[in-house]
Amino acid sequence: MYGLFVFVLGLILGSFYNVVIFRTLSGESLLFPASHCPFCNTPIKWHHKIPVVSYICLKGKCSYCGEKIDIQYPIIELLSGVMFLLLFFKFGLSIAFMLNTVAMSLFLILAGMDYREQKISTKYALFLILSCLFRNYSDILNSLFGAIIGFIVMYLFIRLSKLAKNEFIGDGDIYIFTAICALAGFNHILQVGVMLSLFLTIYALPYIIKKYWLSYGFIWFSVSYILLFLTKLSVIHTGMFFTILIFVNFFCSLFFILKRLIYDIRNRQNLLIVPLSPSVFITALCYVLFF
Ligand SMILES: [Zn+2]
Repeated sequence: MYGLFVFVLGLILGSFYNVVIFRTLSGESLLFPASHCPFCNTPIKWHHKIPVVSYICLKGKCSYCGEKIDIQYPIIELLSGVMFLLLFFKFGLSIAFMLNTVAMSLFLILAGMDYREQKISTKYALFLILSCLFRNYSDILNSLFGAIIGFIVMYLFIRLSKLAKNEFIGDGDIYIFTAICALAGFNHILQVGVMLSLFLTIYALPYIIKKYWLSYGFIWFSVSYILLFLTKLSVIHTGMFFTILIFVNFFCSLFFILKRLIYDIRNRQNLLIVPLSPSVFITALCYVLFF
């Protein structure tokens, strides 16, 4: 029962996060004017503002001018609802729940901004870092130390990308990365780094397959057939089959990403841009839930 309440609260706040994302990017005020269609400027009626439900009822179109409503609206709302529910299952109604939802909501808002326009608001990013430090108030030194390491690592990466005259990392990423290192603290910085690289490769997988589908498919099929054969011979069991396959995919993607990066740097081409923040959001959520 409480779960349902928390889920609905997450949905409602999610639609507010949408307002924050879209209005911050367009430089509008958060409070005025009331929500309106970005195409025809018609104010939106209250019964068309119900999170997710309205989007489905309106079939994703404005009820006045018929222009498409951005799919990001229901996605952010749903993500927020599910996130609130998961955090509630983990922490119950407690101080920890509140601190974690604040930090995770800011991660979500910044991920939304970064995904849309590859830029984030520095003001919110600083709030995010503070909320990550505050979340670990009982062990704040560990958290602070993590943040400093994260900042230095990312700063060096940015210097490197500027040296290569190819800015594949934006200045905004430095804040996001510092925040997740503050969240994990110095003790867990390595675990978070591994998780983040895993999610980044999953995120980049469609780009890699599009570019290298022949070699990728060849590796994938040959490895899976060999593994399947070994499973049939009872050399490895099914659990191991999937674990190895996941690792093969991970290192395979990493290899192709590096190959693409080196190619692009050599040829002074625009680099394959994969926004960092969405993967950081998923990593942060997993970290908060499982550590
Ligand atoms: Zn409209």
